[in-house]
Amino acid sequence: MNQLSIHNPATGALITQVPADDATSVAAKAAAARAAQPGWLAVPLAERKACIVRFRAAVVTELEALAAIMTGETGKPIKMSRNELNGLLGRIDFFLKEVDAQLVTETVFAEGGMTERIEHIPLGVVVNISAWNYPWFVGGNVFIPALLTGNAVLYKPSEYATLTGLAMARLLHGAGVPKDVFIAVIGGGDVGAALQAQRIDGLFFTGSYGTGAKIAQALGPRMVKLQLELGGKDPTYVCDDADPKVAAESLADGAMYNTGQSCCSVERIYVHEKVYDVFVAAFLDTLRGFKVGDPMLETTYIGAITRAPQLDVLDAQVADAKAKGASLLTGGKRLPGPGNWFVPTVFANVNHSMELMREESFGPIIGIQKVAGDAEAIGLMNDTRYGLTAGVFTPDEARAKTLLAQVNAGSVYWNCCDRVSPRLPWSGHGDSGVGLTLSTYGIQTFTRPKAWHLRTAG
Ligand code: NAD
Repeated sequence: MNQLSIHNPATGALITQVPADDATSVAAKAAAARAAQPGWLAVPLAERKACIVRFRAAVVTELEALAAIMTGETGKPIKMSRNELNGLLGRIDFFLKEVDAQLVTETVFAEGGMTERIEHIPLGVVVNISAWNYPWFVGGNVFIPALLTGNAVLYKPSEYATLTGLAMARLLHGAGVPKDVFIAVIGGGDVGAALQAQRIDGLFFTGSYGTGAKIAQALGPRMVKLQLELGGKDPTYVCDDADPKVAAESLADGAMYNTGQSCCSVERIYVHEKVYDVFVAAFLDTLRGFKVGDPMLETTYIGAITRAPQLDVLDAQVADAKAKGASLLTGGKRLPGPGNWFVPTVFANVNHSMELMREESFGPIIGIQKVAGDAEAIGLMNDTRYGLTAGVFTPDEARAKTLLAQVNAGSVYWNCCDRVSPRLPWSGHGDSGVGLTLSTYGIQTFTRPKAWHLRTAG
């Protein structure tokens, strides 16, 4: 059997090896999920919910150990691992509260012996190919509503968050979800490709644009429901009437939280020329308070870069920005020693000829561009192939709403950033993806509406 080696990105040390899937075992798992799904649908919704309630309780009981597993394999600072697990609880509560209403059969017409009904049935067997940066969030956004609505789930954690994925499977099975209703599929891209080749009813992907495009191409002719939650190059504009210090503190956090490895990290900042200098100074001040170091330490704010190849992307963006005239204010290089480390980096005097302002960085690096006014800011914010989130800082609500209405993004923020709510749909424009998770739409998305036309005889 293949073995998958799991390394600690903070030290480079081998953590363990786990058995990985191959084409044969993937096919067997897909067949097992197919066979198990009708039985799971026959389980009353109240009992499916009870399984998720027990799963939630197990997450609470094991929270410290689960946080340590995630930090060990991803390099995420331990406090942020705890935050993610605690955040997951609120998402579970939301799904538990809302799922009943989403599954009620609706009678939309009843007259003269004719009745029309909409029934919400599960898709069937769904695949979730997942990312490593928030494995509990992006996995839970899919497998919790998918299981509640009666689907079987083939879950492939990222090869950089495999131990976390195996922990999810263990806790779900311990909570009463049958072994073949939630199946972890272990491995890298080749295993993901083998999984997508199976007979499936939906594929829910979280990851990079490049992989998402490959999956879309492969699934196109097969009429399989496909959702792609992809990357971003998320902009924020700080207006001339904003408090530049307050905005800088919030945006430094938005850019650097999780070592800049969030899909909705702030990746571009535009600042009105009137407040630019104060903003940049305050941004650097805030950054100086972010401690870089061992992710297991309580005081650490900036951890390791999870995937070693991302260091090359960051190096290339730094070199390109420098060559095109940007001013490096701090950082700009790797940290020596074992593991994957990059110094928090800030560039001023940037423009859109630079990769730093066009392509997802996914690391602790940011460009801050001076703008002359709202029209220029909006033009720059929309000058992107992505469209996940965008924000504006100003005390003027009407101005914020006018600006945000013009931005092409799935989520928009007034005086905040890097925020996800279970009550709101999470989606992207353009190359940030198709489909959505979260909100009541993110429950419905795991069902298909079946139309019933019922005429009484005679
Ligand atoms: P990735 O595309 O490298 O990998 C994602 C998953 O796809 C992994 O499980 C991987 O094993 C699998 N995979 C790789 N090649 C495959 C193939 N040919 N066929 C099928 N599966 C394949 O992405 P990543 O590095 O894990 O995640 C980072 C990216 O995810 C960033 O771009 C980030 O912005 C994005 N992301 C988006 C959201 C969102 O909600 N929009 C959330 C988190 C992360």
